[in-house]
Amino acid sequence: MTADTLDSAGTDGGTHWAPGEHILWRYRGNGTDRVHICRPVTVVQDTDELLAVWMAPGTDCVKPRLTDGTSIHEEPLATRYTKPRTTVVSRWFGTGVLKLARPGEPWSVWLFWDRDWRFKNWYVNLEEPLARWAGGVDSEDHFLDIAVYPDRSWEWKDEDEFAQAQRAGLMSAGQAERVRAAGRDAVACVESWGPPFAGGWEEWRPDPSWTVPRLPEDWGRSPARLGA
Ligand SMILES: [Mg+2]
Repeated sequence: MTADTLDSAGTDGGTHWAPGEHILWRYRGNGTDRVHICRPVTVVQDTDELLAVWMAPGTDCVKPRLTDGTSIHEEPLATRYTKPRTTVVSRWFGTGVLKLARPGEPWSVWLFWDRDWRFKNWYVNLEEPLARWAGGVDSEDHFLDIAVYPDRSWEWKDEDEFAQAQRAGLMSAGQAERVRAAGRDAVACVESWGPPFAGGWEEWRPDPSWTVPRLPEDWGRSPARLGA
């Protein structure tokens, strides 16, 4: 860990962020080293076992968009991953999202509620294990996801995007097989109701005194050299 990381990494001696700190949860564009998703979040818990962060409603985030102005999910699947892209700043209008990640695991688990705080579902986002740097965590999304419902049933999500990403050359057959295997590991965790599902996080609520984290001007800065 570098001096830069230690300087900004919380109050417990430099290895973890403190609850209430603002960090960035970012994804690089697939096959690039440029950030295309950046979500400013508040740290809920940061231990050797689990990083938990809150993305508040009304947060300005960075997301990809096609250069012709079309939103990614409105673009037909066949051309979704081949047309030129840019990034835009977009305010998160949904209800807040709690994101949980266990260090080294190739997925994170997101919790969704409705506007009355009725718990809706967990969402397992398959991704590269988070890499920590001074200002937050970075990953690369792996397209395939798993939705998990309060009755503990589950289903694969976005298998069409996962297949198209392979056709578009964003994932090799070998990487796709590793992602599918990670997904099977995540399903095994669901079926045994391991962490973080058994953690009671559905009952968690944000501290009402928290403010909405600000998107910094240099949200896309490279963490190269940090955390190496
Ligand atoms: Mg995903």
